[in-house]
Amino acid sequence: MSTSIAHGHLADIDRIAQVGQDRKRGGYSRHLWQAADLELREWFIQRAGDLNLDVETDRNGNIWAWWGPPGEGAVVTGSHLDSVPGGGAFDGPLGVISALEAVGRLQQAGVHPTKPFAILVFAEEEGSRFGVACLGSGLMTGKLDPARVLALSDADGITFADAAKHAGFSTSALGYDKEALSRIGVFIELHVEQGRGLIELGSPTALASSILAHGRWTLTFKGQGNHAGATLMADRDDPMVAAARAVLEIRDAALSFKGARATVGKISANPGGANVIASSVTMTLDARADSDESTRALVDDIVKRVGAKSVTEDSWSPEVRFDSDIATKLRKAIGEVPMLPSGAGHDAGVLADVAPTGMIFVRNPTGVSHAPEEFAELADCVAGIDALESVLRGLL
Ligand SMILES: [Zn+2]
Repeated sequence: MSTSIAHGHLADIDRIAQVGQDRKRGGYSRHLWQAADLELREWFIQRAGDLNLDVETDRNGNIWAWWGPPGEGAVVTGSHLDSVPGGGAFDGPLGVISALEAVGRLQQAGVHPTKPFAILVFAEEEGSRFGVACLGSGLMTGKLDPARVLALSDADGITFADAAKHAGFSTSALGYDKEALSRIGVFIELHVEQGRGLIELGSPTALASSILAHGRWTLTFKGQGNHAGATLMADRDDPMVAAARAVLEIRDAALSFKGARATVGKISANPGGANVIASSVTMTLDARADSDESTRALVDDIVKRVGAKSVTEDSWSPEVRFDSDIATKLRKAIGEVPMLPSGAGHDAGVLADVAPTGMIFVRNPTGVSHAPEEFAELADCVAGIDALESVLRGLL
C-alpha cells in the first residue's frame, strides 16, 4: 500500500476535504474557475510537481501532467475535480487521486514508461456553472462549438468568456484541439460508481460497458403574471400549475420506457415573488435511456405530454460503447471483474469515439451520488488503485 494512503482514509481526499464545502447544501460545490476549483487546480499542480510530472494547461482549460516528455499516442488517465452543487467527495477527485497514487507507486517500483504518459484533469465535467456537461472534453473533441460556449452564462449572468478572463485563462484558441487529441493513445478513467450496481454484484470494482444516451433540455411555460391576492382562481393563467403537472407527466413518461430515467432538477419562476403569480416558469429536463432511439422517443413523448411553450435542447450525448480491446486488456490486467453500464455521463464517454477508452468503477456503499452521502470505503479505493496501477503497468 502506498505511503500516502493514511490509516482509514485516502489521504488526498482528506487533504482537499475543506475545499469548496457547501455550508448551505452540504457536500461540495466546486465550479469552474471559482475559488474552490482554482484551489483544487493548484493542489493538483503541486501534487503532480511532487511526482516530478510536467504540468501544462491546454487550449480548453484541461490540465495535463506528463511523466516524461509529452508526445503522440500517450497512455492517459484522469478524471475531473469540479462537482455538482452540493456534490460528494469522490465523483471526479477519486479518479484524479487514484491516478496520482498509481504513478507514485509505479515510480517507487522503478518503472520507466516506454510511451508518453499523462494524467489529465478535465475542466467543467459536471456542467454545473455553465449548464453544459463535459465542457473541456467536448471543446477538445470539437463536439462543442467554442462560440456557443463563450456566450454561455452562469447563474449570476457571468459569461464563460468573462469568467475565463477573470481567471486569467485565454480563450483565444478555444475549441477543437487536434494536437491534444493526437496525444491520447488510450484513455482510462477511474470513477466512483454512481448507483447500486456494485453493491448488488458484491464486487469492489467493475469495468464500464457503456454509457446511456442522455441529454438536457430547457422547458418554458408561459402564463399571465398577476397579483396573488387580487386575481380570482378562475381568472388565472398560472404557468406554475402547468409546470407542476409537467413534472408528474415527465415521471410517468419515464416509467413507461424500460430502464429510462427522467429528472427535473431545476425549476425557476419568473419574476419569482411569494405574492406574484409567475409570468413564466422554466425547468430543466435530464433524460436518459439505453439507446439513442429510445431516449429521443422518451423526450418526444414528454414534449407531447407537457405542452411547454418552448423546448430547447441544451446538450445531447449519444449512447457510448466502450472499446472492447481495451476492456480485454483491462480484464487481463485486473482479472475477471463485472461489466456495468453507466447511467452517468463522463469525459471518457466523450473521448470514446476519438480514442480507445475504458473506465474502472469503484463501489459506492451508499449507492448515492451527486449528493453528500456519496462514499467509497478505503479498501475499495485501494482495490481501484491496484486495478489502475496494473492496467497502466500493462500499457506503459
Ligand atoms: Zn464524475
